[in-house]
Amino acid sequence: MSNEKFKSISPADFFYKNREIAGFDNPVKATYMIIRELVENSLDACETHKIIPEIFIHLRKIPKSLNVYEIHVQDNGCGIPFDYIPPAFGQILYSSKYTLRQTRGTFGMGGKMAILYGQITTHFPVTVISSTGLDDWHLFKLMIDIQNNKPIIKSRKLFPNPSHDHGTIVEFRFEGDYIRAKQRIIEYLKLTATILPYLNLTFIDPDGILYLFNRSTKILPKPPLEILPHPNGVDMETLNRLISETKAKSMIEFLQKHFHRVGKRTAMKFLKYANIDPSRLPKSLNPDEILHLSQAMRNYKSFLPPDSQCLSTIGADLLIKGIRKEFNPEFVAAVTRPPSVYEGHPFIVEAAIAYGGNISPPQSSGDVNLFRFANKIPLLYDAYNDVSMKVIKKIKWWRYKVDIEKDPVAFFIHICSTKIPYKTIGKEYIADRPEIEYEIEWALKNCGKRLRTYLIRKAKMEIKKRRLLVLERYLPYIAKFASELAGKSNMPNYYELLKYMD
Ligand code: ADP
Ligand code: MG
Repeated sequence: MSNEKFKSISPADFFYKNREIAGFDNPVKATYMIIRELVENSLDACETHKIIPEIFIHLRKIPKSLNVYEIHVQDNGCGIPFDYIPPAFGQILYSSKYTLRQTRGTFGMGGKMAILYGQITTHFPVTVISSTGLDDWHLFKLMIDIQNNKPIIKSRKLFPNPSHDHGTIVEFRFEGDYIRAKQRIIEYLKLTATILPYLNLTFIDPDGILYLFNRSTKILPKPPLEILPHPNGVDMETLNRLISETKAKSMIEFLQKHFHRVGKRTAMKFLKYANIDPSRLPKSLNPDEILHLSQAMRNYKSFLPPDSQCLSTIGADLLIKGIRKEFNPEFVAAVTRPPSVYEGHPFIVEAAIAYGGNISPPQSSGDVNLFRFANKIPLLYDAYNDVSMKVIKKIKWWRYKVDIEKDPVAFFIHICSTKIPYKTIGKEYIADRPEIEYEIEWALKNCGKRLRTYLIRKAKMEIKKRRLLVLERYLPYIAKFASELAGKSNMPNYYELLKYMD
């Protein structure tokens, strides 16, 4: 006797009911997440097309409302072809980023969650204006049909674009709490400006305060390339999809065509290892054989490691430029580690340590000044659960002459990967993976060594300076008495002596 009712819900309905998993739990967090998702979409739209980003954000309170805000984000990115605008902003899990390339967006829902949240709390449509530069400006007013996960076009307009400008404007209302989200938003923008020294960002907040983050360079890091999946990282889902779509006539051709860095020789060796006939038609594999194939692919150790061309690091030079611009430290060292792999996903760790200047010691005991980034996104929540914190706590910092809880020292860690192992969907902290831990540890130790050299040199200089100060004070008297004792009227030139001491 079963009276269970079964039904399926649309992805939009699912996220509407479970919005906390995407980080939209309350008005404070939602205010921060909305800005973050829109800025990240704008940045992706610029960087993948080698455009130097120029972003303008205006958040204003709707007069006479209790807590309704309007967000306006404008960028000079690639723009969106007009027929893609409605699904890109009105259909959850619709994205241009389902590729193996490093981007900020991951699930095809960030921007839409923000819009959905706005719609749920205010019932206003979102306005999107965009042009790719090749045609007119298209303005759409859209709402999301939550039950059917479809965009509803409320209105549509065209504006001429004679100068062929490109970019996107997104504007909508939501129920928020800027006062309590303010600190986090400013920190997020400041850290974004740190990791992207080539970004010009303007933010006008609801109090009318203007925040300007100006670029200090026009150099962009190389954009990430798209790659095929690596055989070690493949799962059953991907494999099934590839087999059903492939036009390959044999297993050997299938492996070469659809996987990253698999040539004829590697494919032959692997098929021998997996005990699969190289001339088999891929579509003739039964489910058990596909399962066996996916396990063999994951376990085979002799595939070439993935190429890191699909990753886009900032590079030590730009990282230093960004940190100098936003924190003005007296010393900073940065390194970019060589590429490495976890579970078939390539990744690169970059780290920097900055000391002194505008960096203050951590605010309370047990705290560490740790700034984390993943694929050029600052991560602000849950630092204590992050793999970087674990590694920092493990290193014996006294060997590097610093007390990380008391000295004005800050750590910056950036992880780039086609798949960042986030622990939650809210993209805030990174899970421990031994390969990643290892890279972070060595990156930090390398910077630590350079900090140690600097601090030792600084301490020596200080002793010297103190000695000079004492000499400077007493040398004139000694010179005077000595010449009197010697019965000479001319005093010796003690400045020469001080110069010599220097
Ligand atoms: P995701 O970023 O995970 O792909 P979003 O819902 O945030 O998901 O965005 C959906 C798609 O809309 C993106 O993949 C992108 O193609 C497009 N898009 C969103 N914002 C912009 C923008 N500012 N400029 C250009 N394209 C954008
Ligand atoms: Mg996005």
